[in-house]
Amino acid sequence: MEEVVIIGAGPTGLMLAGELRLAGVRTTVLEKRAEPGDLPKANGLGGQIIQLLDHRGLLERFSAGSPFAGRAPGFPFGSVPLKFAELGGESPLQLLMIQQPRLERLLRERAAELGAEIRSGHRLRKLAQDDEGVTLEGDDFRLRARYVVGCDGGHSLVREQAGIGFPGTTDDEVMLLGHFTAPQANIFDVAQVNGLRQGWNHTQNGRLLLTSLQPGVHIVGVREKGTAPATAVTLAEFAAAVRRVSGVDLPLGEPIWLSSTVSQARVADRYREGRVFLAGDAAHLFPAGGSALNVGLMDTANLAWKLAAHLNGQAPPGLLDTYESERRPVAVHTLRHTRAQAVLERLTGEDGTALRDLLGELFAFDQPLRRLGELLQGSDIRYGTAPAEHVNGGCAVSGEHPLTGRFAPDLALTTTEGPTRVAELMRPARWVLLNLGFSELDDLALGNLALGNLAGDDRLHVVAAHCVDPPADVLLIRPDGYVAWAGTDGLPEAMTTWLTPQPA
Ligand SMILES: Cc1cc2nc3c(=O)[nH]c(=O)nc-3n(C[C@H](O)[C@H](O)[C@H](O)COP(=O)(O)OP(=O)(O)OC[C@H]3O[C@@H](n4cnc5c(N)ncnc54)[C@H](O)[C@@H]3O)c2cc1C
Repeated sequence: MEEVVIIGAGPTGLMLAGELRLAGVRTTVLEKRAEPGDLPKANGLGGQIIQLLDHRGLLERFSAGSPFAGRAPGFPFGSVPLKFAELGGESPLQLLMIQQPRLERLLRERAAELGAEIRSGHRLRKLAQDDEGVTLEGDDFRLRARYVVGCDGGHSLVREQAGIGFPGTTDDEVMLLGHFTAPQANIFDVAQVNGLRQGWNHTQNGRLLLTSLQPGVHIVGVREKGTAPATAVTLAEFAAAVRRVSGVDLPLGEPIWLSSTVSQARVADRYREGRVFLAGDAAHLFPAGGSALNVGLMDTANLAWKLAAHLNGQAPPGLLDTYESERRPVAVHTLRHTRAQAVLERLTGEDGTALRDLLGELFAFDQPLRRLGELLQGSDIRYGTAPAEHVNGGCAVSGEHPLTGRFAPDLALTTTEGPTRVAELMRPARWVLLNLGFSELDDLALGNLALGNLAGDDRLHVVAAHCVDPPADVLLIRPDGYVAWAGTDGLPEAMTTWLTPQPA
């Protein structure tokens, strides 16, 4: 019997495979395509996932050759510009420009290096579960797994066969997107002469996007009322849509890639049905860009250590259920702001312009600007404090330290071995008990405290470190980078709740 089988080797499945292998779980990925994907869907990552890549020691590798990696000076919120550069201090949003095929290749390499088995050309056709495991069938394979994770995208067969609903809405607009090599006549010059600008243009018949992310290649997007074409979009259809929406014959150039998509706004009813879980697009689809990979890849970090603890008999009661109770509200929250972005983006005519202009004025103030940055980054997420308690929607429970439930700040630290950072302590994806309050509680006492609860348990790394202005004497950090507990009051109880296994 396989331990965990992941369906789908898109970014979510590949990231999850790496996370599970780090946690020591035998992992197999089944992918229906024979070759790795080469569609340039996402142009980059934004948000907390970039901090997580840093925790895993992957940031340098993933940023190599990137046109932009760092704190974002700005970002379009439903085509209203957010000018983070004008905020005092650093931008609340991190961005890493990386084309999806490269992202998938790097995630695939990492998963394979860590020992995940990736079987291409394996399309799942049927799934059935019983008390002991899940049976998976394809055209020429049949296998059993203790747990299955559906990372098989928006049309997820796993979700469908597990009987999990996917309520939400489908847009009544179709978006054609194309990457083109530059033609003789510069498309941007021709556009400008005709009153069109780089970025989004709103017209009576829809919207036109003109942009470029690399020299010699430009991106054209057209949104108009309609449904997805039944067959692959042709250059002639694309050019006709550009003409309908803009009223201009633009010199598009040679197409590298053409696609059509219809936005959807959906969150799965449940993230778990028995031994079957969902993650990534299989669990949520957002109607505006920029957040899908952040949420999907962060799902995997949340699920992996919990599944590993469960498989190793180290999970406290209710731990596996916190995957849904922590991550589904994040998707619902993201759906709310991406729906708002989609509406802002699509409103045409003078009403739309008035609303965007007015909000543009409001978004120039520090507070709303910072708040929107936090929404996009995901730094407003706050998990509940214990498996049984579940997520509390970002409200502090009285008496709790403000860092409890938040992603751990990347503190600069000094240990007996020299300078380090929180992110560097998180490389092995283990629990970290970080003692920053030398004067209050010595390292030995903390070690004893840890061992008292967890004798012989190698999941916990106890580190004593100095830090300028420590935010708390102790931080108990989960493998996914979130603070399970901050401070010494209540720490033994927190360790028991999060780390002490269920009695057999
Ligand atoms: C044009 C475009 C631009 C985008 N831009 C951005 C962006 O800038 N930022 C961002 O965050 N997101 C963006 N997205 C969204 C992003 O691409 C998706 O969120 C992401 O691909 C989801 O990854 P996933 O692994 O969950 O699903 P997918 O990428 O859909 O991968 C699912 C995998 O499962 C496989 N599979 C499906 N069914 C089966 C089966 N039965 N058996 C075996 N294998 C199966 C598929 O072949 C595929 O490899 C964009 C999407 C599009 C279309």
